[in-house]
Amino acid sequence: MGTIYAIANQKGGVGKTTTAVNVAACVAEAGFSTILVDADAQANATVGLGAAKLSTPNLYDVLAGRVSALDALLPTEVENLRLLASHPDLAAANVELPREVGSETRLRDALAPLREQASYVIIDCPPSLGPLTINALVAADRVIVPVQTEYFALEGLAGLLDTLSLVQRELNPRLVVAGMLLTMHDGRTRLSRDVEREVREHFPDLVFETVIPRNVRVSEAPSYGRPVIHHDPHCAGAEAYFALAQEVATRG
Ligand code: ADP
Ligand code: MG
Repeated sequence: MGTIYAIANQKGGVGKTTTAVNVAACVAEAGFSTILVDADAQANATVGLGAAKLSTPNLYDVLAGRVSALDALLPTEVENLRLLASHPDLAAANVELPREVGSETRLRDALAPLREQASYVIIDCPPSLGPLTINALVAADRVIVPVQTEYFALEGLAGLLDTLSLVQRELNPRLVVAGMLLTMHDGRTRLSRDVEREVREHFPDLVFETVIPRNVRVSEAPSYGRPVIHHDPHCAGAEAYFALAQEVATRG
């Protein structure tokens, strides 16, 4: 039985997609059958894995019941890694889902068969706490919260944790916070070190030991349609994502 992870933070630009793509690639590279589900209509994870932005079938087709999640999986260049692609149409789901009673469980039900197919299912969430993110949190066993190592890092985190508690209480008692992940850390700056200390003090036991450094190879890899471990396997970013994948796998 596979485990479903949601990568969530309502802030944009904190490293959700980068983390989803690269953790998925690292666990796949380690030999685990893995599926990345792109739940953001911007389709950055889809494109970052080399698939077309207008891929069909995609997650919108799955949520609309036109195709099963299993039949919608696309192969990727990474061994053991398959993709359930996004599509700009997915934006409509944010309007359509709330109009139907009980639609919070739509993604959970659609993804259930994938647990038999993969050890890891990783959902890249959009930058909001809207219906698609709620659907992802209801579908997930664990959530990873990327936190950009910058001045406003803590802002919004309390609200996010409140939402996670609400989802746990009302919709998905299985949900566990796997951890917060400090991203785009710049060890040369005092600001990064201060923010890291502050986040660790605020949330003891909740922050992954692994910190993702700001690394240009990480940011350019998506333009080649590949994860950083294929773009430059020995750069600091690739090594950090390998270490994170190991930490995620060990934490269970
Ligand atoms: P989100 O999905 O939360 O909106 P992204 O993963 O798309 O965030 O990251 C936002 C931007 O920051 C992207 O341009 C991405 O390439 C860049 N980025 C993310 N992580 C790193 C990193 N470790 N080093 C350098 N750039 C990064
Ligand atoms: Mg994103």
